[in-house]
Amino acid sequence: MDRLADHYDMWARWDAEREDALAKLPKCGYCGNPITEDYFFIINRTFVCESCLMKEHRQFTVDFE
Ligand SMILES: [Zn+2]
Repeated sequence: MDRLADHYDMWARWDAEREDALAKLPKCGYCGNPITEDYFFIINRTFVCESCLMKEHRQFTVDFE
């Protein structure tokens, strides 16, 4: 029983530290997720993560008219 409690304590502490770290990260203005990459983009003063950048802003040259 004691061992189980220890485990839970460790997990709870780790989870709280992780939550803290995530709270300090910039949040993507498109998907709302904390940006965990080493870099992000700012478009019209909105933070954008790489996957949203690709989803929302990438244009294929073949579609250009
Ligand atoms: Zn995003």
